[in-house]
Formats: sequence, structure tokens, C-alpha cells
Amino acid sequence: MFDPDPAKVYIVGAGPGAEDLITLRGHELLKRADLVVYAGSLVNPELLKATKSGCAIHDSAPLTLEQVVDLLAGAVHKKNLAVRLHTGDPSLYGAIREQIDALHALGIECEVVPGVSSFSAAAAALSVEYTLPGVSQSLILTRAAGRTPVPERESLKSFAAHRASVVLFLSSGMTERACQDLTEGGYPPNTPAALVYKASWPEQKIVRGTLATLPEAARREGIDKTALILVGDFLGDRYERSKLYDPAFAHGFRSAVPDTEERAKTALPGGIALVAFTEDGVRTALGLQRELGGRVYAPPRFVGGDNTLGRLDMSVSEWASSHFKNAEALVFVCAVGIAVRAIAPSAESKTRDPAVVCLDDLGRNVVPLLSGHLGGANDLAVKIASITGGNAVVTTSTDLHGITAPDTWARRTGLTVENPREIRAVSGALIDGKAIGVAVTEEIIPPPWPVTLWLRPKNRVLGVGCRKGIAPSALEDAIADFLSGAGVSPHSIAAVASIDLKKNEAAILEWSGKRNLPFRTWTAAELEAVNGPFASSERVRRVVGVDNVCERAAVLAARKLSGSDKESGGVLMRSKTLYEGITLALAGIRGKESNR
Ligand code: SAH
Repeated sequence: MFDPDPAKVYIVGAGPGAEDLITLRGHELLKRADLVVYAGSLVNPELLKATKSGCAIHDSAPLTLEQVVDLLAGAVHKKNLAVRLHTGDPSLYGAIREQIDALHALGIECEVVPGVSSFSAAAAALSVEYTLPGVSQSLILTRAAGRTPVPERESLKSFAAHRASVVLFLSSGMTERACQDLTEGGYPPNTPAALVYKASWPEQKIVRGTLATLPEAARREGIDKTALILVGDFLGDRYERSKLYDPAFAHGFRSAVPDTEERAKTALPGGIALVAFTEDGVRTALGLQRELGGRVYAPPRFVGGDNTLGRLDMSVSEWASSHFKNAEALVFVCAVGIAVRAIAPSAESKTRDPAVVCLDDLGRNVVPLLSGHLGGANDLAVKIASITGGNAVVTTSTDLHGITAPDTWARRTGLTVENPREIRAVSGALIDGKAIGVAVTEEIIPPPWPVTLWLRPKNRVLGVGCRKGIAPSALEDAIADFLSGAGVSPHSIAAVASIDLKKNEAAILEWSGKRNLPFRTWTAAELEAVNGPFASSERVRRVVGVDNVCERAAVLAARKLSGSDKESGGVLMRSKTLYEGITLALAGIRGKESNR
């Protein structure tokens, strides 16, 4: 049992705010303390309710270091139990060192009790992991330079070069500058970023965006203190597996939507990353780049002053892992052994891995190594072979039997495989000449065959309206109920749509982000201009400026996705359905109907 010693000063981490996020030891000390000096601006006063009557309580905000030390030392001399309460964990920006040293000089020992830092609470609020395999394995905790200077060698720009996960303390008053510095330092402007205000407090707020959009969002929400700025790909990029090979998306939607255009500019053109190690290899790779787009990387000795080649200043496997998640395809111009070893640590599953193709430096043998069907590596290898005049060494069985595998067919026709585990059974049956069952429909129906491969057309748009700050789990449940009521597979949702006021609504971003779906919003005036048989609510109009959000947004997105703004391009399939604080509607994209 922990037994406090009144000859010491206890420096206690109060946790991020919520009164039950202090440690048991910290709580025990508060209960027994005769004196508590707490950092008033950030410690939740609710915590002080734990103190006993007669405990002297001081807010340190108006006090100098000397006054704080006098208070604490005075208590120790009277054999009173003294607690210095700091927000989060005292080791981060707590200014505890100077207090410990001053107390030492008076012959007084200190003991530190750790706390849950706000950076942990912020991650918890977003349900994110800072250290995602293949994304970042490091977390940088720092701050923008303000009145307290930051050593030049620790500038945000220099940290940005690492593209690691970043948390900025004490910086939400300088969000714009911070985002600018991080962008100049090397983060692409579309890197996801978030502000978490008062994590774990009842008034907690989350603002999401990108390095480019966060400053404006922060201004709009009026957040300039008591918040952390989180930056990095660990926050998930909802457009990440961009749909290069998905005919449903490649053109109509992207070209119609300004923010995805912006992204296309910063993404790898063509989404292909190529790497070569010899002079012949670099020449071959550049030839492929001319035809296919993408970017060629090579060792520094091949890289001139211009921007033709990317510099390969890391190991091949680091290079592979840095592109694995974002690129549509990786092309190795080298021996397969090098490529296989380089990708081995990153390979995950056939539904997630990018296409990986390897060819020799003269382009004679072109081998699809990973994601031959769903990722399109077989088709890419055939295309590369046709460019180099080489031979595509395809090893997937269906192709050699002259059969189009169901997953290849699904990709080519823009369908999503709902149950990829069954691909093997279905392909096997095809090779053996047996009858198989492949169902192409957005409808949830009983399986027509003992083994059914479900291929889902992406032909529905989900329109969402909701109260600000709705819990992600509430939205998740409402959508699940709505879609099952509508009898529509979630895999058939092509996009999520709403009004621009909801652009940063965490629950919607989370639902669409998890499924890699575009989330598109429009202004009240744009929604108002959509023609159709929509429900109309005066109350909604008073609040957001248009009489209906979910139906209008769903139909407008469906019309955009159909490739034309014509009215016939998108139709309302299921009208506004109300849940607690949430409204949902479903629109169909014309030309992508399967059986309705
Ligand atoms: N020792 C504290 C940090 C103190 S510095 C910790 O470990 O969390 C103060 C800064 O911490 C604030 O400017 C803000 O950036 C951040 N901060 C503290 N509590 C916070 C909370 N509950 N939510 C978001 N940020 C918080």
C-alpha cells in the first residue's frame, strides 16, 4: 500500500482533464493532502473535490516560482502533506525541473507521480494509433516556437522531413504557422491533421482536416488554446487507396470535385512508384514512366540536378514500405529476389496490397508478384511487357487456363468483392470446370448457391445529416440499421454526402474514412438548387439554410458520380429516415443499377 511521506513534496500528474483519469496513487495523495497547489488554467477543478476538508488549495496561475516553492516548503516544514498538481503528465511542459531543483536547494525531496498525458487522451478521443505499421513507427512530441523558443535543430520544418506522427503541444494559437512550417518541411498539404480541444473534458471538441484546411477549420471553431495539433498519415487518409483502377471513380467524380483534384496533383501521378538500380534499369523505368505516369526512384549516383528522378536514399525495403500504402502499384526493375525481400515485410492481404510487378533491367521478363487480380498486377505486367517488348510471366492459375478470374473481372467492371475469402473456392471451381455462383447485386438477399461470391456494384450514395458532435458509434449503428432496412450492402456505397457545415464532423469522417469512401459536401445554396421530390422541413431550413440535407446531398452526389449533372443521373432510392440526432437517405447512381 502506498504510504505518503510528508517530508516530501509530491508532484502529481492530474491526467488530461476527466476526473477519473488520474492514477489511483495520485487520487490517494489528493485525498490525504493538507496543501494542493494546482495549475489552474488546465487542471479540472472537479479533481479537487477529492481533497479533505481543511486542505489548503492554491491556484498556481498567478504565482511565481518562488511563491509556489515557499508554499510547498512551508507545508513540508509543518509536516503537512504537500501536493503539486500538474496537468497531464508532469514530464511534458510541466516546468517541474525548476521546482524540484529549488526544493532540493532547501533540502526537500520530491517524488513524481506520473499521469495520463493529453497526447494519449487525444489519441483515445480519435480512436487512433500513432504507430501504425507501414505508416509511422515514431511519434514526435513537440511545440511550435512561441514566446518559449525552440532550438533551431528542432524546428517543425526539420521534423517534418521524417513524415512521422506528430503531436504539437502549446501551439493551437499558431495553427496556421505550424501547418505551414510542417508543409514547407515536407508533409504533403493533404496530410491528415486534427485538433483535439480539451481531450477527455465534457466540452471536448474534435476538428479534422488536412495541413491545408486545418487552420481555417480551427478559426471557424474558434479553437486557439487548450488543444493539441495531431498530424500524420496515422490519422488515415480517406482517399488513400485512390481508385485508379476503379472505373466508377477514376474520372467522373474526381474531375468534378475540386478537393480531389487538389489531391490528384499532390499524389503520385498515375499512382505508380518505380525503382531501378542500374543504368539500363533507369532507362527502362523512365520509358515506362512516359507511358504509365508515376515516379522513378534510383540511387543518388543516377540523380541529377533536375527533378526527373527521385533520390533513393534509404534501403529498398524502406522504400517499398514507404510506398506500399499509398501507391497503386510498385514496379521493381531488378532481380525478383531483391523485390521479394523488399516487399515481404509489407505484404498484408490481397484485398489491401498494391500491385507489385518486377522486371529485369532490359524489360524481357515481367513478373506480377503481388495482387495479380484485385490489385491489377497481372494486367499491369501485360501492359508493361507490351511497352518493353518482353514477356509477362503470369503465374495465377485461372489466367493460364484461359479463364477470367472472378476478382479480375470484378476489378475491371468496378465491382467490390464483399467476401474475398471465397475467391479461392470460386476460382478453384472454375479451373476444375465446376459450376459456381457469383452474385452481382447491391441487394442483401439469401445466398443463391452453396458458395456464393458476392460482387457489389458501387451504385449508392449515402446522404447524412446530423447533430454536431454526434458519437461515431451512434452514426455507425444508425447507418447499419438504415442499410439493412434498405436491404443494401454497405459495400455498394460509393460515397457519403452532406452539407458543408458537416465537413469536419468527426463521426462522418470516421465512417467514410474507415471505408475509404469519398465524403463530399455542398453549400446550402447548392443543395437548394437540386431538383427532386424531397421532404421539406422549415425547422431544418432555419438551422442550416436549406430544407433538407440528406436527400438533396445524396442525390446531388449521385448525379455527379454518374458523370453528368443531369437529373436522371441520380435518383432518391430511400427517403429521409430519422434516428436520434441523425437523418439518412440513399440515392442511386444511374447507369450503375444492377437489378432494380
Ligand atoms: N503536461 C501536459 C502538457 C502541459 S502543456 C500533458 O502531458 O498533457 C499545456 C498544453 O498541453 C496545452 O497548451 C495543450 O496543447 C495541451 N493540453 C493539455 N491538456 C489538454 C487536453 N485535455 N486536451 C488537449 N490539449 C491539452
